[in-house]
Amino acid sequence: MVERLEIKNLETLLINGAVWTPTGWIDPGYLAIKDGLIQAVGGGSPTSDMLNSAAEVIDVTRMAVMPGVVNGHTHLSQTFMRGLAAGRPLLRWLKELIWPLQAAISAEELELAAMLGLAENIRSGATMVVDHQKITRTLADTQAVARAAAQSGVRCTIARAWSDCGNGAETPDAILIELEELFVRQQPGGLVQYASGPLTPWRCSEETLRKSHALALEYGSYTHMHVSETADEVQMTVEVTGLRPVAWLDQLGILGPQSQIVHAVWVDDHEMQLLAQKGALVVHCPLSNAVLGSGIARVRAILDRGVQIRLGTDGPASNDTQDSFENLKAAISLARANNQDAAALSPREGLSMLTAGAQLTTGSPADLILVRLDTLWSAPVHDIDSALALSTHGSAVDSVMVAGKFILRSGKLLTIDEESVIKESILAVKNLRKRAGLDQ
Ligand SMILES: [Zn+2]
Repeated sequence: MVERLEIKNLETLLINGAVWTPTGWIDPGYLAIKDGLIQAVGGGSPTSDMLNSAAEVIDVTRMAVMPGVVNGHTHLSQTFMRGLAAGRPLLRWLKELIWPLQAAISAEELELAAMLGLAENIRSGATMVVDHQKITRTLADTQAVARAAAQSGVRCTIARAWSDCGNGAETPDAILIELEELFVRQQPGGLVQYASGPLTPWRCSEETLRKSHALALEYGSYTHMHVSETADEVQMTVEVTGLRPVAWLDQLGILGPQSQIVHAVWVDDHEMQLLAQKGALVVHCPLSNAVLGSGIARVRAILDRGVQIRLGTDGPASNDTQDSFENLKAAISLARANNQDAAALSPREGLSMLTAGAQLTTGSPADLILVRLDTLWSAPVHDIDSALALSTHGSAVDSVMVAGKFILRSGKLLTIDEESVIKESILAVKNLRKRAGLDQ
């Protein structure tokens, strides 16, 4: 199989790797890159023309060349809040620990937490991260995250969180004005983009949900929202609106291809049908849901209705890492346990969710990763899909390329000074804990 656009003046040519295709692996295969795009993909060895025209030829023997990981939902600020849940259920954990820390964190600390979290995401193979950005006292907070994202070189959509009911509520005007200020900053095709991030149905009014969604659509963006994470939350929405959350969002006109439903643990059959009919996307966060004891989303049933699912690590406060490979294994294992069926979710289906269905085809953006298949955890490899889905940790990610540029290369992070970010973060969190009243 050979597909090609043009083979002159190639920038990068990867050879001798196992190359991902929609139907299976080409092993060995090659992949050529130029101007941030994939120019050619094929099996065996590239032609001598290709080899001669490439500025750089990289031998990726014993590596998988696959689309980059899309971490569909995290809270980068929570990189400073790992390991704090200690068995508390969702709402107690939020009230006693997370909300006080979120109130005390400075914009500078937020930028540092985002940088640390983005480094972790890139090391786990992310070429794209959706950050549900909850620290929103002023525009400067979201700008701090945007600076970290721009420096990291990863694609990042910052879904600006908001609520206009209950604890930490903002006025509808403040929310809509700030969302628009962010949307006008978006550069078409830029690495940093913005979305509307209502926190949960029970903390948002109908009117502001409708208006913010219309605004997001006007700017070509979308709504990204926690929905039906716990059984309690479903009950709270039913009490206020008379409807279950997905049904309520549908009634508001929000459910559609431009809406991302994060969690969907407690959706009933009718709601699954609505998600499918309207083309909404589900972001599944299996590890976070398990760690917080929220439940296990019915992934097989949702997929069977034709709903598109992506994976999210969720914030490291509730996971407590952003290792997307670890999260993938949890997705597969929990789906099988839940269905009492080892065929409930295949490695290939899991990998498609991990990479948001992306393909390495001619003309696609060169957002890809090189993953080692010769680690202690994965060697020897009988089946590449299984090795990646069940035996691989983020630490096996050798290189990450976004739009044709390496941001992680041969295990070295090129955009972030990892060592100093870790040192500064340890110091910053000491101070933050004191200010939040967690320590004397
Ligand atoms: Zn979340």
